[in-house]
Amino acid sequence: MTARHASSALEALLVDDKFDGDVYPAEPMARHTMYRIGGPARFYVQVASVGALARLIDVCDLMDVPWVVVGRGSNLLVADEGFPGVVVTLGRDFRTCRFDEEVGRFCVGAGVPLSSVVQEAFRRSLAGLEFCVGTPGTVGGALRMNAGSRDEWIGERVASVTTFSPSKGLARRAGDEIAWAYRSSSFLPDEVVVECELSVEPADPFFIRGKMEASLARRKKTQPLTDPSCGSVFRNPTGDSAGSLVERAGLRGTRCGGAQVSEVHANFIVNTGDATARDVKDLIELVQAKVNETYGIELQPEVRFLGFA
Ligand SMILES: Cc1cc2nc3c(=O)[nH]c(=O)nc-3n(C[C@H](O)[C@H](O)[C@H](O)COP(=O)(O)OP(=O)(O)OC[C@H]3O[C@@H](n4cnc5c(N)ncnc54)[C@H](O)[C@@H]3O)c2cc1C
Repeated sequence: MTARHASSALEALLVDDKFDGDVYPAEPMARHTMYRIGGPARFYVQVASVGALARLIDVCDLMDVPWVVVGRGSNLLVADEGFPGVVVTLGRDFRTCRFDEEVGRFCVGAGVPLSSVVQEAFRRSLAGLEFCVGTPGTVGGALRMNAGSRDEWIGERVASVTTFSPSKGLARRAGDEIAWAYRSSSFLPDEVVVECELSVEPADPFFIRGKMEASLARRKKTQPLTDPSCGSVFRNPTGDSAGSLVERAGLRGTRCGGAQVSEVHANFIVNTGDATARDVKDLIELVQAKVNETYGIELQPEVRFLGFA
């Protein structure tokens, strides 16, 4: 299948009134990542329903075009050359959030911003999600990354999850059928999280507010929240802190082009304004090499890469 044919099949979706989604050719990913960095996706598609998601993936697989689902791009570094495939985001039908009083669970679409669920839980005096306050991104991205703090993570709150994959279609599993690990989960690479149920419990609103405010205050004090970033770049190695290792290796403030190891938190690499993906990647590699040379520890990236060879 030639690239021209692949494009044609995808472009057909652009003008197909029956396709329940929006297709944007050559869409700059810098518009869709919190780093504000990234070249064009060959196609950027927002699907509004599971039917549209299934149809799009079908076309991609038939045409042998790579595809990836993203949320808000808050943990994503996209190459300057962009992504030579289809970037999928979850629209309308994936953006619903309802609370089931009987079972005490939120039923949430994967495209819902995590912050909306946290706020809705607070509004209803329901505890369990306070640790997510200030974590950007969608519910789908949070589940894939098993987002959380040092002591709590979203996987612990997942009562059930529904995914879509080309081979199995829609499948629902209990939360404890997923292996949740530190900033990772056992979803398969071609598995799209479409919905989940999150468990919460009634609590004193002052207790909930107290936890949320303490967490936000800690972030404000310790994280560079005004510069574009992807949050923590490296996973903490067992028994140590990545930020502390980077700092002890004397790398705080180190720059590659427009990318800089944050002066505020050494596990953040920020875009000071005109950073390219290459700048960020070079800085990541420089930090890894220096920490390895100094402490014999290989820092593993937490940030996800897209479009790099
Ligand atoms: C300022 C800042 C602070 C942060 N603080 C924290 C924190 O405290 N704790 C923490 O854990 N993280 C933190 N992060 C990182 C990031 O917010 C989380 O990893 C977040 O859960 C990613 O969600 P997203 O929707 O933006 O996913 P994206 O960045 O868009 O994608 C991340 C990964 O998830 C996959 N993915 C996205 N949606 C789906 C889906 N529906 N189905 C399957 N796979 C999917 C993508 O393919 C990609 O591999 C922070 C980031 C920033 C910028």
